[in-house]
Amino acid sequence: MDSVKNTSEISILSILTNFGCHFSCPYCVYKSNNINIPKTTVDSFGWEELENELKNYKENLISISGGGDPLYNYENNKEFYDKLFDLLDKYNIGLELHTSIVDYTFPYKKCERVVFHCITPTQIEGIVYLRYLLGLENIIRVVFVVQEHFNEYIVKEIVRLVKKYHINELSFRQMIGADGKPTYTLYDYLKNGHKGDWYYIEQSDYNKYFVHNHIEEEYLKIK
Ligand code: SF4
Repeated sequence: MDSVKNTSEISILSILTNFGCHFSCPYCVYKSNNINIPKTTVDSFGWEELENELKNYKENLISISGGGDPLYNYENNKEFYDKLFDLLDKYNIGLELHTSIVDYTFPYKKCERVVFHCITPTQIEGIVYLRYLLGLENIIRVVFVVQEHFNEYIVKEIVRLVKKYHINELSFRQMIGADGKPTYTLYDYLKNGHKGDWYYIEQSDYNKYFVHNHIEEEYLKIK
């Protein structure tokens, strides 16, 4: 596939899947806000509706995430991804994968960017090992949801590891409570560092969401 445009100026289409999840992130907005995404299967997914939508994103970048984790149970969802990558190739669309799972059997090389959602700084080394083992040259971003126990020391340790291992991008974002509102842990510190060693992402709906067979505009309203 040819390289795709940088879409930072336009809203990204985000495919939300639900293959299930390990449900071990301590800050799961999906669970705490009772988001409801139909179970994703290759047979029931709205491929025709997705293709119609993808025609608007030719030569651009879209993302895939959850409801659940898009790589959960990947072993039994290979057919889904084969079909998805064929469709993306047809329109020369790049994929940004959001996941908390390291799965050595997934074809990460087919993604333009891989965004790993981490809970602890030590997970960065697992990602580096994956990159080395599979010879990945994709853009790799690590994202940390700022948990209540985070302090400047933890942030500095994350930055140190990101620099040491030449991870391309680092972002922080806040936890979302059961009331749908973000917490503001280390807010000033992280905001002041935005576009320095990291990106600080304010809570908002930056994406259009493709859910099962239709578009949704607000994540927290997918019920
Ligand atoms: S990967 Fe997503 S859905 Fe799964 S536990 Fe973590 S935040 Fe929740």
